[in-house]
Amino acid sequence: ARSGRSAALRARMEERLLGARFRYINQQLYTSSSREAARLFQSDPEAFEIYHRGFAQQVGRWPENPVHRIIRYLRRRPASLVVADFGCGDCKIASSIKNKVHCFDLVPLSPLVTVCDMAKVPLAAESVDVAVFCLALMGTNLQEILEEANRVLKPGGTLMVAEVASRFEDIRTFVNAMAQLGFKSVSKDLSSAFFYLLEFTKTGSPRGRPAPGLRLRPCLYKRR
Ligand code: SAH
Repeated sequence: ARSGRSAALRARMEERLLGARFRYINQQLYTSSSREAARLFQSDPEAFEIYHRGFAQQVGRWPENPVHRIIRYLRRRPASLVVADFGCGDCKIASSIKNKVHCFDLVPLSPLVTVCDMAKVPLAAESVDVAVFCLALMGTNLQEILEEANRVLKPGGTLMVAEVASRFEDIRTFVNAMAQLGFKSVSKDLSSAFFYLLEFTKTGSPRGRPAPGLRLRPCLYKRR
């Protein structure tokens, strides 16, 4: 009985340590540039595994995973549309639809992933119909990342953003800043208490000026 108890205690402590490491890595991702994040994961691949396990646990607590909403949305549109999934994680989108999906992440959780920093993806200009950021707008260089999405999108193409609701200081300011980057708001679904789903159309190139309203709060998790 005693060894059973000490095994249980040990498992609980390991769980706590993993939780602490997850929160620490998560905080680093939200407070550094995408280049620094790339360096972090390159130097410590284990960090990526811990991050993803913690991320999946967090999203598992929500009543709905936004990636499923995006999959449903894409299924209603033609399968001929080319999609780019920025910060694809385990490639749920690519494995759920017939479309050609370019999957980008810092470390490959799946063989479908092209490893790169999302601020610089290996795609030609105006080559994709839909760009997706599902809980993936993490770096502090948000503007650079969204300008990259603008570059690869065809004129009139769609940008889908799903983000944690509490990250937005003011949704109107955010949407106005997106307009400066050449993205017009088409629809906003603010009905979930956990995440917002925003759809934009590419109307043109970025204005090339700083868009300070683009700021999002980091999403920090509490110890449980
Ligand atoms: N979109 C997936 C995963 C979201 S987790 C889903 O909804 O299930 C956020 C993902 O963004 C992580 O996999 C993380 O590695 C990735 N990411 C964060 N910064 C990145 C960067 N600079 N370049 C590429 N991927 C990045």
